[in-house]
Amino acid sequence: MKNYDYPSSNNRRKFLREISLALGTTALGVPLLSLNACQSGNSENQEQAAQANQDGAQTRKLGVALVGLGGYSTNQLAPALQETENCYLAGIVTGTPAKAEEWKSKYNIPEKNIYNYENFDQIKDNQDIDIVYVVLPNGMHAEYTIRAAQAGKHVICEKPMATSVEDCQRMIDACNQNNVNLSIGYRLHYEPHNLRVMELGQQQVYGPVRRIEAADSFVIGNPDVWRLDKELAGGGPLMDVGIYCVQGAVYTMGETPVAITAQFGEVTKPEYFDEVEETITWQMEFPNGAVADCRSSYNESAGKLRGEAENGWWELDPAYSYSGIDGETSEGDMDYPQVNQQARQMDGQAQSFMENRQSRVPGEMGMRDVRILMAIYEAARTGNKVQLDI
Ligand code: NAD
Repeated sequence: MKNYDYPSSNNRRKFLREISLALGTTALGVPLLSLNACQSGNSENQEQAAQANQDGAQTRKLGVALVGLGGYSTNQLAPALQETENCYLAGIVTGTPAKAEEWKSKYNIPEKNIYNYENFDQIKDNQDIDIVYVVLPNGMHAEYTIRAAQAGKHVICEKPMATSVEDCQRMIDACNQNNVNLSIGYRLHYEPHNLRVMELGQQQVYGPVRRIEAADSFVIGNPDVWRLDKELAGGGPLMDVGIYCVQGAVYTMGETPVAITAQFGEVTKPEYFDEVEETITWQMEFPNGAVADCRSSYNESAGKLRGEAENGWWELDPAYSYSGIDGETSEGDMDYPQVNQQARQMDGQAQSFMENRQSRVPGEMGMRDVRILMAIYEAARTGNKVQLDI
């Protein structure tokens, strides 16, 4: 079994305590990490993996059912599941019969593991499916996460976890009540350059962080997409990609912000942006006085995460893409490999599910971030500084 997650069970509390002390952070909701946790296996896990291969895939690898076969499932997750070692593509849930046929033959998925949105709840009787991965529009995450939990399946839910804090809480409660694990599709917690940023910031390698600059934007080319529909998306670029700036700032600091100000940008394409924002800028203050200046737009291109500390700086650009992540520090180039982020993420999550412990990106982290996103919207709407106590 490949170890792409924290040290297991017995060692976990000790590990968290040690690293919390080392990093001066709290254990819950803050992304603590080590590069080793991402990059290495351990012999116990390797033995289990060897045994798994002898036993055949289904006895050891967890079966994943993808719910929603849109762009991300088709182009990233399904291909990544061909490379994972702790889990595999076992089933699909789709409302489109033609897609079911195509995926069935392409990925050799048995008919009995193919569901639609109506008969989805019958998945509870399917022993092949251990994990339901919700890859639907944001406004549908809560319903399908809760239905999956009620079917007794572990859940991976895409970002943003939901479109309200209340929905996040209902999702966490449903998973707890049904004794299943809940993890968010935060792939960058398994990506070496971003992991290094967490170390540089949290371990204060160049001294205390003073300023962060983060931007994540792309140009949306079609007005008829769910991403521009308030109910399905929950908001505009902030919910979709600005969330990576929030994540980036929080995992640089190892702490959550205490105050937020924000401003909506100008609407230049009203035919696109009559429900959600086109552009938003926001500022997050951290307990040590550091400030993160962030920007997200559906009408620009950007993907940057920069940290400035007392004695040095670092910058990833692009910081959040699926490949080609590039980094530099005040000491020179960052030299880390490009990895299949989604494969590492799902392997890490599957491992944590097998070991009956939280992944490094649990539902609580997803809810924390939705809380921050909602505070950013409140600050932009009211013009007030919003205080946060998370
Ligand atoms: P998409 O539009 O390509 O796919 C959405 C899927 O949902 C489609 O298969 C569509 O048929 C289905 N669907 C079911 N009911 C629908 C409805 N009422 N309206 C619209 N579509 C409906 O979207 P996507 O890019 O695959 O995004 C899906 C989720 O994955 C989103 O939550 C998004 O934030 C997330 N995502 C995450 C990453 C990442 O890097 N982690 C990248 C892309 C998308």
